[in-house]
Amino acid sequence: MTDKYVYRFGGGATEGSGEMRDLLGGKGAGLAEMTAADLPVPPGFTIVTTACGLYAAGRGKLPPEVAEQQEAALRWLEGLLGRGLGDPENPLLISVRSGAKFSMPGMMDTILNLGLNDRSVEGLAARTGNRRFAFDSYRRFLQMFGSVVLGVEKDAFEHLLARFKEEKGAKIDLDLSAGRLEEVAGLFKGLIRERTRDDFPQDPRKQLDMARDAVFRSWNNDRAVFYRKQNGIPDDLGTAVNVQAMVFGNMGPRSATGVGFTRDPATGAAEFYGEYLMNAQGEDVVAGIRTPEPIRTLEEQLPESYAQLRRFTDHLEKHYRDVQDFEFTVEEGKLYMLQTRRGQRTAQAAVRIAVDMVREGLITKEEALMRVEPAQLDQLLHPRIDPSAKVVVLARGLAASPGAAVGSIVFTSEEAVEAQRRGEKVILVRSETNPDDIHGMDAAAGILTATGGMTSHAAVVARGMGKCCVAGCSALRMDEEAGSLEIGTRRLGRGDTISLNGSTGEVLDGAVPTLEAEVADEFRVFMEWADQTRKLAVRANADIPRDAQQARKFGAQGIGLCRTEHMFFATERLPHVQQMILFAPIAKRLQAEMRRLEKEVSEAGSAKAETQTKLAATRKELEEPQRKLDEALAKILPLQRDDFYGLLKAMEGLPVTIRTLDPPLHEFLPRREELLVEIARMEERKESGPELERKRTLLKHVEELHEFNPMLGHRGCRLGIAYPEITAMQTRAIMEASCRLRKEGVAAHPEIMIPLVGDVREFLHQAAIVRETAQAVQEREGVEVDYLVGTMVEVPRAALTASEVAREAEFFSFGTNDLTQMTYGYSRDDAGKFLREYLELGVLDRDPFVSIDQAGVGQLVAMATERGRAARPGLKVGICGEHGGDPASVDFFSRVGLDYVSCSPFRVPIARLAAAQAALRARGVAETRTA
Ligand code: ADP
Ligand code: MG
Ligand code: MG
Repeated sequence: MTDKYVYRFGGGATEGSGEMRDLLGGKGAGLAEMTAADLPVPPGFTIVTTACGLYAAGRGKLPPEVAEQQEAALRWLEGLLGRGLGDPENPLLISVRSGAKFSMPGMMDTILNLGLNDRSVEGLAARTGNRRFAFDSYRRFLQMFGSVVLGVEKDAFEHLLARFKEEKGAKIDLDLSAGRLEEVAGLFKGLIRERTRDDFPQDPRKQLDMARDAVFRSWNNDRAVFYRKQNGIPDDLGTAVNVQAMVFGNMGPRSATGVGFTRDPATGAAEFYGEYLMNAQGEDVVAGIRTPEPIRTLEEQLPESYAQLRRFTDHLEKHYRDVQDFEFTVEEGKLYMLQTRRGQRTAQAAVRIAVDMVREGLITKEEALMRVEPAQLDQLLHPRIDPSAKVVVLARGLAASPGAAVGSIVFTSEEAVEAQRRGEKVILVRSETNPDDIHGMDAAAGILTATGGMTSHAAVVARGMGKCCVAGCSALRMDEEAGSLEIGTRRLGRGDTISLNGSTGEVLDGAVPTLEAEVADEFRVFMEWADQTRKLAVRANADIPRDAQQARKFGAQGIGLCRTEHMFFATERLPHVQQMILFAPIAKRLQAEMRRLEKEVSEAGSAKAETQTKLAATRKELEEPQRKLDEALAKILPLQRDDFYGLLKAMEGLPVTIRTLDPPLHEFLPRREELLVEIARMEERKESGPELERKRTLLKHVEELHEFNPMLGHRGCRLGIAYPEITAMQTRAIMEASCRLRKEGVAAHPEIMIPLVGDVREFLHQAAIVRETAQAVQEREGVEVDYLVGTMVEVPRAALTASEVAREAEFFSFGTNDLTQMTYGYSRDDAGKFLREYLELGVLDRDPFVSIDQAGVGQLVAMATERGRAARPGLKVGICGEHGGDPASVDFFSRVGLDYVSCSPFRVPIARLAAAQAALRARGVAETRTA
């Protein structure tokens, strides 16, 4: 038996169903499902997604069975409708539509009115008695076919049409008569001939095959590839091709075409939502060429169609138990459904809809939790325009995607991408965006367009990205070439700063202050469900009380990583830190010398006079550096104590993991090159005195501290071992802060963490100092503190020897950034240079610094956890590092059975939801986020 490549829908012969999304694609499955539910869908057939792969594998040749089955289906369709493809008397017109398993909005192109040629257009005119309509359809077809299939750029057609309209004094397309449109068709054919050196193909079967192949090819166009990469959609799924009889929204005043959502996709409110255009076809609504009408007014213009549409879409939402994004056309008062699919929505809407649907009894809590993309939650926590700020409203557009954005104006996607590379925030201002702008939109802080409605390309894509967007701002007059922009009476240029309020549609002058997001009730409820479901705890990485408070507000159950050195960089502290760094090595050297001499003296019994003198001299020599070191430590101690006090207090009752000093010391000193220049300048000016001397000494130290490979150099516990006084000082600060809090009735639970341990003896050395110091502080203060001493597992050797380490360490925290760096041997700071290429070439699937490499680094995590817990039952194990906020990594860590993940405060809700989903997946709850 040959494989089935073509599935029919309509005329009582529907072969597919809504479940067959893998094979039919989302659109094809939706068409089959709607047809089966007796909704009015123009009949047609779907060529399956697997044919797309065969087309690519056959280098543009399909197996003959595909062509045979396609021809049979076409004949069936012709018979069903009593029309023939290319029939000069009674032509069948079809659309050729792409549709993959996952909806890729605007990614692949649809061709309408296929089957028209110089003869059948006359037949269409005669049949419908509407010559204007026939030639309007023809010129649309020529344009679409010319650009999508033949590769003539869209703009060439647009410019030709615009020039023609201008010549003829026509403002909009609707002003063009039948005769004029016929002229346009002629011009378009001329353009195609000129550009392709070939005539436009008059044979409709050839048109169909070419269109079908173009759809298959479009699966691999840059836009589609980029979109898939961004959204983690596999490249080998392929797209289906849907061939469907045309219905016409451009037949006259009782015809229309539109799109909509069963609920508001921006806020999630249970309000019917959509837009339409009278007497228009296909992409007119989404292309943003004419600004469409809100769906409400359809009720007045075509009341029956409106009522039917409400009924059908209600039915669809109940049937799919999810918000539907639908497309429809009214032909001479008769309504047709052309598409239904899961509606894309903002995070705010996703949460609200999920919660509402549970309340409406449509879905379960578990399903609701699976419906929201964790990464999307990011949007909810992002800033909004400060309502109390004084603003100058330059113009108002549509509130297309919520949030706030501040940035300087750019006019092209290229500029936006470049500006992002320079670290600048920009607002991409366009008359309208098209799919090629996806990179620019990605790079911009916000998007502003002059035309287009709530469902325009810009709006849809911005919402998907969670990016602030104001669309259809008609007060905008752009002159992209001159690089300027008129908004009302104001003239602005490239580089001028504006602000956007995506929640109201306002365009504001200058940089307007923004505020943190407000958390809605639905969000709270939703996150409670997530918390009840998950097994994994979520902590935050935070160094200062403000971040800790933020994290706690977002639901963090502790601090997983406080990087103490972050506190060292403050300008008023840096001099003390530098003093500590400069004198610690000198003191260390002299101390060692003294110990040696003292030993000599004591061993010799009666000491030699010479040694005695040397000892005295060394003692004397040590005085100054020791004093300087002690002084620096004494200055830093109370500052650190205050830091820890604030942090532990903010996290009252929750564990706070504090890591002892980690980075190589040179990071705290000025750069060698800078010092050299400064010294050279001073010498040139013949300056002298203590400042120059200080700089020279500093330079000497900087040079001494220079390392060839600082990331693998003198850092982490290696520092603490070399300079135990630093570890002791930090421990003292932590413990004194904790004692003080205890006395104030605040429960502090510090977990002191030794970084970069590779050998258990490194840990033992540091743990001894910590425990000794902690003991002394507690005794002195007469208070007992609940504290732990554990280690960061970030050197592969520590993971390999986890049982030994766990016998000594009271907890493990995987530092997955360093662990990834050291397991792969990729320098984190240099990997950017080659990782991008690796990803493009497919050498790696994912950036291992973003999403944990489960097979390698993950294996170390799993193994060390198991061995660690075997050696110390109940060993607390977590991870800190960027991976803690990555949903795929969180899923992995949950499966491995870690106690917690720790991530940056803004990602805490993401991790909470990802952890809940991980728990649900472990229980076998299926993904429902797909339709
Ligand atoms: P996309 O995936 O970009 O939404 P579609 O294949 O849905 O592309 O086509 C875009 C638009 O073309 C539809 O919204 C609809 O208005 C129009 N269209 C597609 N097929 C037909 C048809 N058979 N009759 C009338 N209009 C159609
Ligand atoms: Mg569509
Ligand atoms: Mg580290």
